[in-house]
Amino acid sequence: MTSATNKRDLRTGRSVWVDSPGLGVPTRPLRAALSVDVAVVGAGISGAFTARELARDHSVAVLDRRAPLMGSTMASTALLQWEIDLPLTALGGRIGIAKARRAYARSWSAVQALKRIVEDDRIPCGLAERRSLYLAGDEYGHRALKTEAEARAAMDLPSEYLDGPACGKGSA
Ligand SMILES: Cc1cc2nc3c(=O)[nH]c(=O)nc-3n(C[C@H](O)[C@H](O)[C@H](O)COP(=O)(O)OP(=O)(O)OC[C@H]3O[C@@H](n4cnc5c(N)ncnc54)[C@H](O)[C@@H]3O)c2cc1C
Repeated sequence: MTSATNKRDLRTGRSVWVDSPGLGVPTRPLRAALSVDVAVVGAGISGAFTARELARDHSVAVLDRRAPLMGSTMASTALLQWEIDLPLTALGGRIGIAKARRAYARSWSAVQALKRIVEDDRIPCGLAERRSLYLAGDEYGHRALKTEAEARAAMDLPSEYLDGPACGKGSA
């Protein structure tokens, strides 16, 4: 049977996650029909979280055409950022500030939820919080960064604009 999904080699080398302690999902080949409430197709992180939520009150099977964790999840750098690729102000210019704020708020709460899952399920993945630092450049100069920091702070997202003297004090 051919698949409509393009199957590409996402990894050209050995992923650093391959040797992580505790990694590995018990699997078995599907040799006979299975009756479940929900079949989740794809054993990457999306399938894992979907199955985790649904398994509270449904019987769930996760199916994959490959071995688990062979897709982009294993290829990932595993950097979790609540910041969206487009700054809040730029996104607001494209889709309107109300929608942009909503997108940022949801992205923030998704990362918080993920942190809670790691804690609650005691997942030994070495999750560590880090702050992001944006440097003024050609595309976003210091005024744009200041406006961005203020826009984020206005919706209670942790954000601070550092000017020259503040950077000199090493407060980043
Ligand atoms: C090199 C790289 C670096 C990345 N770095 C980051 C990062 O730092 N931070 C970040 O947030 N994101 C990053 N990403 C993106 C992130 O990895 C993906 O968004 C995320 O892993 C997608 O997870 P997924 O479960 O949706 O997909 P996948 O992990 O790809 O899982 C999908 C699964 O579905 C299976 N499947 C597909 N079609 C079928 C079918 N028809 N039948 C049966 N099974 C099927 C596949 O075999 C696969 O196992 C990166 C991605 C890559 C490639």
